[in-house]
Amino acid sequence: MSTDALLQETPAGLYCSAGDFYIDPWKKVARAVITHAHSDHARPGSERYLTTTDGRHVLQSRMGPAAVIDAIDYGTEILINGVRVSLFPAGHVLGSAQVRVEYRGEVWVVSGDYKMTADATCRTFEPVVCHTFITECTFGLPICRWPAQDEVFAEVNRWWRRCRDEQRTAVIMAYSLGKAQRILAGVDRSIGRIFCHSAVEQVNRDYRQSGIPLPETELPGSNSNRTAWEGALVIAPPAAAGSPWLKKFGDVSTAIASGWMLTRGARRWQSVDRGFVLSDHADWPGLLQAIRSSEAGQVLVTHGHTAPMVRWLNEQGISSRSLNTRFRGERLSSDEDPESLPDPDFVLPTDSTDAPDKRPDSGETGQ
Ligand SMILES: [Zn+2]
Ligand SMILES: [Zn+2]
Repeated sequence: MSTDALLQETPAGLYCSAGDFYIDPWKKVARAVITHAHSDHARPGSERYLTTTDGRHVLQSRMGPAAVIDAIDYGTEILINGVRVSLFPAGHVLGSAQVRVEYRGEVWVVSGDYKMTADATCRTFEPVVCHTFITECTFGLPICRWPAQDEVFAEVNRWWRRCRDEQRTAVIMAYSLGKAQRILAGVDRSIGRIFCHSAVEQVNRDYRQSGIPLPETELPGSNSNRTAWEGALVIAPPAAAGSPWLKKFGDVSTAIASGWMLTRGARRWQSVDRGFVLSDHADWPGLLQAIRSSEAGQVLVTHGHTAPMVRWLNEQGISSRSLNTRFRGERLSSDEDPESLPDPDFVLPTDSTDAPDKRPDSGETGQ
């Protein structure tokens, strides 16, 4: 990227030299503008953070009580050293934002992670017109197309009901920030009681505090009645799959909810019985829709299978190239969005720049 570009790639991350701030920096900086609170985007230790009002509680929990966090409403413009900065809904998780940066008539938008599908627990993606659009590309392959969300939730409910009728416990693994709450909001709560792993429950609290209604949930530790598990739904982070933590629930049926289930089924997680295709990222048509509606003449592609997307865009006459927004070789934290990394068995041979350094099935450890 040329040095006069509005945003530059630096060792600490995407940097706006005119405004002297970073977007989703991976090192400690003076001023960090954050797209969302997943740990591959929000890292502790910076002096000051900017997020959306919706995302404030979630980010504070993740960065710690001492973190200094400024919050603005979606669509509100502020000036940082003369650079206009505003945040727009990305539809990914509660508070997630696209960052719009404007300076001397030039407009760049950094998408962060996003999805086009409606989500009851966060604001829907809003297209923002710009000159340069930096888009994520986690599922950037033409074969990635999500099934209708209603059908997926109907499937989840059918599975849970069957578990209840068989006096088993339905345990679903879902990333603790975003996916777990989306499932909570989507399931039929009349089927039975819902228990959440403490990592999930912490985020539930942040969501409720932010005004997002969720069904009643209980911590498994608070239950002393063994038969209470029968017919219950348990929501746990992916790392709980196959862990001893599951033993307490007796006879279980296990499932995982992830976009990777589209290509992998439940095979990756050998200890899991069912896979549901539910992603908080855009599928191929969603990515194209976002790119088109940005009307950008230049599209920089990051996160995932960038090479096929870059090739496709250039063929369409849209100037495009890959952008590394993550410092290579840095160890990722344990609660990174597991969907944000490409499936290592699913990387095309031409996509050599995107070799993942960690498998996407990690998550918080069970307790
Ligand atoms: Zn994310
Ligand atoms: Zn991400």
